Amino acid sequence: MQTGQTHLFIPGPTNVPEAVRQSMNVPMQDMRAPDFGDLTLGLFSDLKPIFGTETGTVMIFPGSGTAAWEAAITNTLNPGDKVLMARFGQFSTLWVEMAERLGLDVEVIDVPWGEGVPQTAFARRLEADVKDEIKAVFVTHNETATGVTSDVAAVRRSLDAAYHDALLFVDGVSSVASIDFRMDEWGIDLAVTGSQKGLMLPAGIGILAVSEKALEASKTATIRRAYFEFTDMLKLNADGYFPYTPPTQLLHGLRMSLDRIAAEGLDTVVARHRRLAEGVRRAVSAWDLDLVAAHPTLYSDTVSAIRVPETVDARDVLRIAYEDFNTSFGTGLGPLAGKVFRIGHLGDLNEGMCLTALSVAEMALARAGCPVQLGSGVAAAQEWYVRDTRARPSVRLAA
Ligand SMILES: *Cc1c(COP(=O)(O)O)cnc(C)c1O
Repeated sequence: MQTGQTHLFIPGPTNVPEAVRQSMNVPMQDMRAPDFGDLTLGLFSDLKPIFGTETGTVMIFPGSGTAAWEAAITNTLNPGDKVLMARFGQFSTLWVEMAERLGLDVEVIDVPWGEGVPQTAFARRLEADVKDEIKAVFVTHNETATGVTSDVAAVRRSLDAAYHDALLFVDGVSSVASIDFRMDEWGIDLAVTGSQKGLMLPAGIGILAVSEKALEASKTATIRRAYFEFTDMLKLNADGYFPYTPPTQLLHGLRMSLDRIAAEGLDTVVARHRRLAEGVRRAVSAWDLDLVAAHPTLYSDTVSAIRVPETVDARDVLRIAYEDFNTSFGTGLGPLAGKVFRIGHLGDLNEGMCLTALSVAEMALARAGCPVQLGSGVAAAQEWYVRDTRARPSVRLAA
């Protein structure tokens, strides 16, 4: 018999606020009803500021973030198109694999896990590509496997400096609605996210924001697609409808989650993620452990990937946290399995919750044989949370 809650500190799915959960508890409705469009049109317009776009077009596909990846590629590129990508973690690796499976000519730059997008190598490659043979550049904004956030604006600058016309694809699945994201300012053509991370919803929808240039490209792009066809989607979306049955519950949940983000203020949401993440990082350093992220400029405000000493198996830390202390942390993915555990700190979170995560992590580390001083990380985070009084949300949110 388990008592109390199971704590969820994985980087997606994240905790769903009670108000969002309740908002989805509605009777089934007719997705062709005359007033159904009111719900969806509001979502399309309110998602725009979440992506930082005024000129982009937002589309909501039943599916997950991976579906949005596929929709982005198949609608805007041609078989055999050369694209530039970097591999530095599980998610950037999976995106490369998808691009290859869809028939793109992928030029991959491999980077040690823990680093971010290779700015200099990208810049050089774009500079050398005087015939604009590269049709698209892909950036995983926040590599969730390693806890690394890359500088999308710098990639934009490289494209501009080379007068390069390639489309800019950005995976924002674990950054949109939690880390600063500026589609228009960074000249992003296809921004991708899912519902179960910063948007605090169950998995089930993949969301795309598409630039005018990418929409133009979609008119002639020839990779085969059917379910994900932009044209079908846009035709019905114009009045708030879908070419197939949308997950109406999730759309109601999204309405509530966007309302909550607006009430807190997007800037405050971003600042809160930064503040909470900094507490976690201070705890890791008090434990004398290292993050996978190689440099402070790369630190992610939504997930921390923490290396355990070689004498400890990170899988034991995860198992003990779950079995003994009812707490889920993220596993080490791919080559990081056994070496790393991850604390997801995004979505509906506050200081007390982060302190719970840190406190359980200390106990699990200790039981797994890692010489941490109990309380040291918690105290370091507390110090930070007590001292850092900036940006406390002034808005009191309903439960
Ligand atoms: C979670 C995640 C994905 C995959 O999204 P799904 O919704 O699981 O398909 C892709 N990229 C990043 C960066 C992620 O964090």
